[in-house]
Amino acid sequence: MKYGVNEQGYYGDFGGAYIPEMLYPNVEELRQQYNKIINDDSFKAEYNKLLRDYVGRPSPLYHAKRYSEKYGANIFFKREDLNHTGSHKINNAIGQILLAQRLGKKRIIAETGAGQHGVATATVCALKGIECVVYMGEIDMERQAPNVARMKMLGATVVPATSGSKTLKDATNEAMRDWIANPVDTHYIIGSVVGPYPYPDMVAKFQSIISQETKKQLLEQTGNELPQYVMACVGGGSNAMGMFYHFLDDEGVKLIAVEAAGKGVNTGHSAATTFLGREGVLHGSRTILMQTDDGQVVEPYSISAGLDYPGIGPQHAHLFKVNRAKYVSITDDESLQAGLLCSQMEGIIPAIETAHALAYLEKMTFEKNDNVVICISGRGDKDLSTYIKHFGF
Ligand SMILES: *Cc1c(COP(=O)(O)O)cnc(C)c1O
Repeated sequence: MKYGVNEQGYYGDFGGAYIPEMLYPNVEELRQQYNKIINDDSFKAEYNKLLRDYVGRPSPLYHAKRYSEKYGANIFFKREDLNHTGSHKINNAIGQILLAQRLGKKRIIAETGAGQHGVATATVCALKGIECVVYMGEIDMERQAPNVARMKMLGATVVPATSGSKTLKDATNEAMRDWIANPVDTHYIIGSVVGPYPYPDMVAKFQSIISQETKKQLLEQTGNELPQYVMACVGGGSNAMGMFYHFLDDEGVKLIAVEAAGKGVNTGHSAATTFLGREGVLHGSRTILMQTDDGQVVEPYSISAGLDYPGIGPQHAHLFKVNRAKYVSITDDESLQAGLLCSQMEGIIPAIETAHALAYLEKMTFEKNDNVVICISGRGDKDLSTYIKHFGF
């Protein structure tokens, strides 16, 4: 694959494994084993069976008729919001729990910001009867109390990260520390296409089911497996990578990644990484991140917790640099309006993350017969209180 990872774990200038020496044995074990395990027939059989019977795949490709009329193109929604636990995150969590079992691990750790990845991880640990510890910033635990309760109900232990800004990056540091202390029995489930190699490649492969299904569904519905446009929102970039994956080598398919501009890219309250960031190292890989002149990570801001991340995965950094995908951004207000529009025109309340991708439709012009696929990465139930506060329902 032209845009895939090379044997050293790089996508062009980006990727690699920039880790403390004490993590080396854990990451090296994964690197040596992951491809062999996930390409094994018994792994594939169990993964596909759980995706079908537990997650509810294939997720539908829905031709959004009223949106199509409004925007003057054929708009399709890839419905990851209909998955068990309400987003694409479960695709990766299922893949990694099966991998952990085959590596003989007895304990799972994860980090979470908004709690969506923590809930997906707690879910698959319950499914397999494996101990689960989720690190979460103390401030995020207050902001996302319902997801903390969900994780506890599912049997996970939620540990507050009390250092630094008490948010996602501090939870990630705590999880890394735990992994160093427990290298033999513990697997660390990272929730996006970030982290040291092999995580970005592994997570992309688990999420690639999204574009694999989409190609088949487009062929059935339009007679052509290739659309003109594929769009998705980007936090770390896992739903976008899954949505782009099987279209990467079809250079005629335009890929659009939508970041969170927050209150505006020049307001100091933003998470528009490709616009504001520079090259550097974040969470174990070389990528593009928001940083100060001396290389300290800048605290990002977005109304959507899932897009509130100071970097992007290394494969996205590469797709951005070589211009294979276009990176754009949408503000809080634009995304809330798009969430309302989708609710009232299609009867689908999207996650605020997803609403960023939908909002970008307003800024595009199409030819009449263009086929456009948007990844509906998650449902909006978790965001109701934010919508209510904004619109005053
Ligand atoms: C977590 C999340 C995202 C952002 O994460 P990616 O890794 O960029 O996909 C987007 N949408 C939803 C619904 C999420 O829960």
